[in-house]
Amino acid sequence: LQAPTAAGLVWQVSRNDAAKSDADRDAILAAPGFGQHFTDHMVDVCWSEKGGWHRPRVSPYGPIQLDPAAAVLHYGQEIFEGMKAYRHADGSIHTFRPYENAARMQRSARRLALPELPSDIFLDSVKQLIAVDGSWVPSQAETSLYLRPFMFAKEAFLGVRPAKKVAYYLIASPAGAYFSGGVQPVNIWLSTQYARAGKGGTGAAKTGGNYASSLLPQAEAYEHGCQQVLFLDGRNIEELGGMNLVLVKKDGTLITPESDSILEGITRDSILQLAADRGHVVERRQVSIDEWREGAASGDIVGAFACGTAAVVVPIGRLLAEDFEILHTGDEAEKLALSLREELTGIQYGRVEDRHGWMVRL
Ligand code: PMP
Repeated sequence: LQAPTAAGLVWQVSRNDAAKSDADRDAILAAPGFGQHFTDHMVDVCWSEKGGWHRPRVSPYGPIQLDPAAAVLHYGQEIFEGMKAYRHADGSIHTFRPYENAARMQRSARRLALPELPSDIFLDSVKQLIAVDGSWVPSQAETSLYLRPFMFAKEAFLGVRPAKKVAYYLIASPAGAYFSGGVQPVNIWLSTQYARAGKGGTGAAKTGGNYASSLLPQAEAYEHGCQQVLFLDGRNIEELGGMNLVLVKKDGTLITPESDSILEGITRDSILQLAADRGHVVERRQVSIDEWREGAASGDIVGAFACGTAAVVVPIGRLLAEDFEILHTGDEAEKLALSLREELTGIQYGRVEDRHGWMVRL
């Protein structure tokens, strides 16, 4: 047991006796890929209707015991987050806007009828994991330790109602550079047969079901030679399977869909803030696929990019639909996307002054 932390929690820490050796860990960190390797420990905190949040714990990474009747396995009452820890040149470890992830997880929790995890417990969980597994944060360019907080209904009960027992977990996985040979524009497939979310649905929440329902359209995208899928709400553009979308006009104006059925990306918010700082006009509004198509044809829309935690910013070279395509071959928009990407990663890796106070040292 440790002394209470700033969040008032007394963490129970049990070290992993079978932790990877320094040599084994270094071998993994030399080429981590994405989501394949996990650190030596995990964090979990229990919640019950009667006891609230309790028993915060750091323990050896390993399988979770779950009753076969646990509600999450039947009704998908689950939410998650995704963020990264970055190593700076002086060896220190930082994370990017973690309170935004904490707040988004609370919004997801409300939609999925799960309890809200207080932000200070969320941040405490990240600090506790980094305290034992900090050596898992890689140091090569564009690498990071991907942090995956998640919460699910563990009560064993087959009725359809909010679970009275819930678990919050945090696991971490070293991540290599997303682009090994420099940032490459991607092709995206316009899904017209499938929707990701509808009005009043769970589109704004980060919940497993949204991703399960994106797998089939994503497979369709691959079949058409595209890496990502773009979803519509009627004729309005929404977002990609795991990234937000921004259109670039000739005059430098940036347009991004406003919708209550997309995930509010923290990368998008940050990139648009950096663009606004540079004097770009930023429009958050409904935007239809026809506006993009006509704008591209007239030369008014010169490009588009996608953004999210994993890849940061990726220019879009081509949008492919069943009966038309949009090609963006000019390099103006690509240059802008890449320079915003450079500025944001500069802040995240400590090379550029953090003038908005986004970084939190762990
Ligand atoms: N949309 C979806 C559906 C996502 O899964 C993600 C990744 N979390 C994003 C957008 C981008 O969000 P962020 O910039 O916070 O990673």
